[in-house]
Amino acid sequence: MRHDFVVVGAGVSGLTSALLLAQNGYSVALVEKSDRTAPLLRGFSRGGVRFDTGFHYAGGIGAGEPLDVFFRYLGLSDRLSCFPFDARGFDTFRNLREGFEFRFPAGYGPLRENLMEAFPAERSAIESYLRAVRSAIDSVPYLNLDAPLDPKGALERVFGSTLAEKLDSLTGDETLKSVLSTHCLLYGVPPEEVSFLQHACIVGSYYLSANGIQGGGLSLATAFDARLEELGVEIHRGVGVASLSVAPEGVLRGVRLDDGKELRCGGAVVTVHPRTMLDMVPEGAFRPAYKTRIRGLEDTVSAFTLYSVSDLPLPVLAGRNLFVLPSAGSIRNLGNRPLEEGPLYVTAAYARPDDAPRGFIGIFPALPETTRAWDDSATGNRPGSYRRFKEGIAGRMEHLVKRYCPELGEATACAEVSTPLTVRDFGNAPSGGLYGVKHKVGQYNPVPLTRVKGLYLAGQAVTSPGILGAALSGFMACGNILGHDRLIKGLKACR
Ligand SMILES: Cc1cc2nc3c(=O)[nH]c(=O)nc-3n(C[C@H](O)[C@H](O)[C@H](O)COP(=O)(O)OP(=O)(O)OC[C@H]3O[C@@H](n4cnc5c(N)ncnc54)[C@H](O)[C@@H]3O)c2cc1C
Repeated sequence: MRHDFVVVGAGVSGLTSALLLAQNGYSVALVEKSDRTAPLLRGFSRGGVRFDTGFHYAGGIGAGEPLDVFFRYLGLSDRLSCFPFDARGFDTFRNLREGFEFRFPAGYGPLRENLMEAFPAERSAIESYLRAVRSAIDSVPYLNLDAPLDPKGALERVFGSTLAEKLDSLTGDETLKSVLSTHCLLYGVPPEEVSFLQHACIVGSYYLSANGIQGGGLSLATAFDARLEELGVEIHRGVGVASLSVAPEGVLRGVRLDDGKELRCGGAVVTVHPRTMLDMVPEGAFRPAYKTRIRGLEDTVSAFTLYSVSDLPLPVLAGRNLFVLPSAGSIRNLGNRPLEEGPLYVTAAYARPDDAPRGFIGIFPALPETTRAWDDSATGNRPGSYRRFKEGIAGRMEHLVKRYCPELGEATACAEVSTPLTVRDFGNAPSGGLYGVKHKVGQYNPVPLTRVKGLYLAGQAVTSPGILGAALSGFMACGNILGHDRLIKGLKACR
């Protein structure tokens, strides 16, 4: 059977693309290498506690905000139950050296007030920063349904100022700079590399609102699955795409799966890591310069993660995250420091969705190089030296969390640890980067259109990481197929 489109990869971007094409009348096949769709979102359970992996909270999902409108258009909203994080302080920033704390409240107005109260001498810097964030996010098509489709934004991300440069131009207050750079942990690129525009597009949605989803990422994955079934999308799980078939005249005509099966199609939306995509394309389909550029893309930081269960409820984490920095400069050079000198992100884990948290997840950024010695090993078959290394890391992480976050109490115990190799192998992420390819000044990421007719790219590498960014990439890619005007009109009707 020939499909109109094959979508490669069933993460949020692939799921979004499959739904968009199917609900606009195309026959669609979706191929996912893992045994289940949305592997990154499903999390796992230990000791009766469910730990999320690729989703903890979302920005811009309040009523009428961009992600809410996307989910309405995709037919997911009625299947999801969102709950607001603590409006008075959904994210707490803690600087240990200065004994300073700042809580991010929901909404631009309250955020402005809290910042001005904490940094009274920096009023004009705070005004300028928040104005610039709003205007950046307003310039992005689909995030703002009235913004023109203008390629200038893509150039600004490559040639514009970095976040650090922007903050340096506004203030000399290092503590304020580190507060405003905290959310670099949400996209894995340090402030001295990420463009201000990219930073603004991600944090700007959290400044609007911060929400969780009852049941976490698993509920989101389940909602996508139900909608795929409703629309009759053909799903191939547990088998990857090995190669794309491209006719000599440069037109895509099908995809070949790892088991040898060929799916013929009129077009494909490929959402995997760009280097993985390159390996699928026949020699000669892309120009050498394009291939060199894609091969050279730098990946985001990876992490060591501690998953702990608690004998006692942890109400301090209900609807709240903690970002801990040993000092104001710890957010720079992200990942390239000993655990003791880098930042820590702590978020809740639940035994039952409507109870207080019964565990936590502590994420310590780290470079993939830290586990290079075991690169050739596979899950379930790692050598003893790796297990001993992991135990050592677990002990250090437990010690640091106890020191940094005494409010989590003494009744916690390590239930699981993940390393950059875990991220690589469970997420099918080539180098173990948490959020795929970096978006940084000086790096030109791929765009949805390619030289091969019928081949479109989506995924966090194309737009930005996060559920919002990945979904946005699906709209951007499919807008080229369905017509941006048509999609935007449909989205406007869902506002
Ligand atoms: C620890 C962590 C915490 C996070 N927390 C949040 C959060 O709280 N809020 C938020 O908004 N975002 C969060 N994110 C980011 C968010 O999860 C991602 O940005 C988003 O899910 C990426 O979606 P994607 O579709 O672009 O990529 P992916 O989910 O990586 O999708 C690509 C898919 O392609 C599949 N694949 C790979 N190779 C092949 C092949 N050859 N054939 C077929 N399929 C293949 C992969 O298995 C994968 O399922 C977090 C990420 C991590 C790692």
